[in-house]
Amino acid sequence: MNTYVIALDVGGTSMKGGLVSSSGEVLLTDRRPTPRAEGPLRVVEAIRAFIDELAEAGPGAPSGVGLAVPGLVTSDTAVYSSNIGWKDVPATDFTSLEVPVRLGHDVRTGGLAERVLGAGRSEPDFLFLAIGTGIAGAVIIAGEPYGGSSGWGGEIGHIPVYPDGERCACGATGCLEVYASATSVGRRYGERLSRTASLRGGTLPPPATGGTVTAGGIETPLDTTITTSAEDVVALAMRGDPEASAVWDEALEALSIALASYTLLLDPSSIVIGGGLAEAGPALFEPLAERLQTRLTFRAAPPLRRAALGVNAGMLGAALLGWQAAGIPDAGATWALDVLTSPSVP
Ligand SMILES: [Zn+2]
Repeated sequence: MNTYVIALDVGGTSMKGGLVSSSGEVLLTDRRPTPRAEGPLRVVEAIRAFIDELAEAGPGAPSGVGLAVPGLVTSDTAVYSSNIGWKDVPATDFTSLEVPVRLGHDVRTGGLAERVLGAGRSEPDFLFLAIGTGIAGAVIIAGEPYGGSSGWGGEIGHIPVYPDGERCACGATGCLEVYASATSVGRRYGERLSRTASLRGGTLPPPATGGTVTAGGIETPLDTTITTSAEDVVALAMRGDPEASAVWDEALEALSIALASYTLLLDPSSIVIGGGLAEAGPALFEPLAERLQTRLTFRAAPPLRRAALGVNAGMLGAALLGWQAAGIPDAGATWALDVLTSPSVP
């Protein structure tokens, strides 16, 4: 019979679950909503129910359970999450099964997966940077994700890059995340368009045709608020749109400042970038590598690599935690790379 673990990546909106065998075969993946609005107790119950369902679908009893969760977390306690609202939830509360359970911080667990299975496979010291709604980092030192003395390590999104800059949701000003998260790039472009419009007397920039303005190839009526995705802003910047170029330039500049500090402090062998913004591909990686090298005057910049595991990094990292809980700490070392091409979580 196939031995397997249950892996769960718990996010603010959904939970990605999977069954992963000891040889790295992903037997099943599934997804459930995270009932965050119903309170932390309901979330814990939903996790328990999801794990039960996954166990029923598995071949026999699981060998362990691994969970990637947001917030402050130790391997056996979900200490605090502002996103979900729980406090000091023991790992064993997440399942009714009599199996060993191990918890991990969501981004650090993604970093662990990239280290063992993905772009950091031969990189013991690297930064895994996830750029999406926000910006979070997993500091990998000597092959292990490092959470620091109190579990707050890796919060690179709140490094001040422009000390007199814009206000961040965290309460500080000029954080990296305010300028360079995928969400911020889209938001700042919209704000810039509105500002330009009011400078020109209350209307949006003159559209090419009729009563619309074209943003990212999408025609938007002039009287609606323009919300543009980061992907569209990057595409506009590549075509020379001045507003999009200015926003993208500031994002790249902010990232190069933060990554130069990181590099000078920790001397990583590479920087692995994942999350939605990594989809920008060469439009992100090429100018960022150039700017980073310019800032690092006396040393070579570490190569920037694109994350390999995409949205499955958290779930695959949770599977590694599950195998650690089951007493196989080096699970993953022998897994075939075809785990990377396994079907995505639906
Ligand atoms: Zn901040």
